[in-house]
Amino acid sequence: MMYKSTRNNQYLVSASEAIIKGLSEDGGLFVPTSFPTFNLDWDELKDFTYQEMATFILRAFLDDFSAEEVRACVEAAYNDKFDTPEIAPLVEADGKYYLELFHGSTIAFKDQALSILPYLMSTANKIQANDREIVILTATSGDTGKAAMAGFADVPGTKIIVFYPKGGVSSIQEQQMVSQTGDNTFVVAVNGNFDHAQSKVKELFNDEALRAELAEQNVQFSSANSMNIGRLVPQVVYYFYAYAQMVKKQAIVAGDAIDFCVPTGNFGNILAAYYAKKSGLPIDKLICASNDNRVLYDFFHGGKYDINRDFELTISPSMDILISSNFERLVFHAINEDDRLLTTYMKDLADRKLYTIPEKFHPNFADFVAEFATQSETKEEIKAIYEAANYVIDPHTAVASKAYRKAQQEGASRQPVVIVSTASPYKFPEAVLTALDVDTTTMSDADLLAKLKELSGVPYPDAIEGLLEAEVRHHTVIDIEEMKELVKKISLS
Ligand SMILES: *Cc1c(COP(=O)(O)O)cnc(C)c1O
Repeated sequence: MMYKSTRNNQYLVSASEAIIKGLSEDGGLFVPTSFPTFNLDWDELKDFTYQEMATFILRAFLDDFSAEEVRACVEAAYNDKFDTPEIAPLVEADGKYYLELFHGSTIAFKDQALSILPYLMSTANKIQANDREIVILTATSGDTGKAAMAGFADVPGTKIIVFYPKGGVSSIQEQQMVSQTGDNTFVVAVNGNFDHAQSKVKELFNDEALRAELAEQNVQFSSANSMNIGRLVPQVVYYFYAYAQMVKKQAIVAGDAIDFCVPTGNFGNILAAYYAKKSGLPIDKLICASNDNRVLYDFFHGGKYDINRDFELTISPSMDILISSNFERLVFHAINEDDRLLTTYMKDLADRKLYTIPEKFHPNFADFVAEFATQSETKEEIKAIYEAANYVIDPHTAVASKAYRKAQQEGASRQPVVIVSTASPYKFPEAVLTALDVDTTTMSDADLLAKLKELSGVPYPDAIEGLLEAEVRHHTVIDIEEMKELVKKISLS
């Protein structure tokens, strides 16, 4: 199986090349040229460990890796860095299933992919006999940055630079990032929002002069953002694993279709669900849940992708995004892989901040149902689930949980559902406690965490233990315009 660029159909690369490059030189994203078909014997698959499932799925997508190489990457990634041997437990609460993807070292779902990406990248380097130093450039809306650094810290032959929007992440998220250890990690706050930072990072990737200058010093950029296929493919795994758990719990009979509801930002997580469906997993609807930044909701109700609007800072910051990068991949598939047409849409988005998909293509988006939850609805949902099931969910998961409620009321979701739970409530204690009617005005971060522990009965994960006392090691705050110089300085040092 090969990968091709969304902006040039003829440009084919192997899985290992796609992982090293991150983004295509033409500005496009790599997508699989075809989807694998699996022999889905659920009688056997229902008893697979997460590691077995990961090896089974990844082998098909990473066609130039040997079986042994895939297995080694999986074993290095999914081990006791996770606080449960199940890696991704499926929990029933209030008549729904929540797929908990926050048991890794940074307590958000990004760990699922970022704990394996460094191993995939070094294996890809070996396959390609690439001896260049890799500089990972990453813009983060709060969770990717920490998870990527946790993965790449002290990995030989790599440096990682993370940009996050100053004031645009939770206090716990910020403390997690600025206390990051490792001589090869660089954390930088930027004055701007996530879209500004992400657009600049993409621009640096596509800067040919800069690329040539680095190449002379034997250095190259790669990406740990979900634009990298090495991020996306490991996310396909947990959809198969969740389905297997549904069969095992006898919540469904093997072969029955289910729906997934996914709290969406950059469209990476839900795109992985779509790829799972394309690879034969019995999924009916994919419910795309947005917060107040509801560009995707509006798109799915009319076909216009329009970012001419204010950027809202919400209590689900990892979904505060107007330009969902991975949406380019879905559009590419939906317009029958017409690379020229796709390129005009992306140009329109850059120049006019919108593009419109003609009606004839709308049926190709029919696997998706879009809903959104406002901030007050999100808080109500946290409270409702707590009161119904004594189960505390984080604000991102709550957006999805509420979106599902709406989809069900509208008759748009008719199958058993799995709600994808993307972060631990410990990452957003203030928002969660406020939703549970706790007056947080005079509480310190330590008070907030202690109170949340008392209400939820869930012990502190390792990521929280000692976090507030950890030394702040990164202090840099810059403007967007200063990013290029800084990247150059770090990369060439
Ligand atoms: C990144 C993130 C999301 C959004 O996922 P995408 O793949 O960007 O759509 C949702 N919730 C949390 C907690 C996240 O960290």
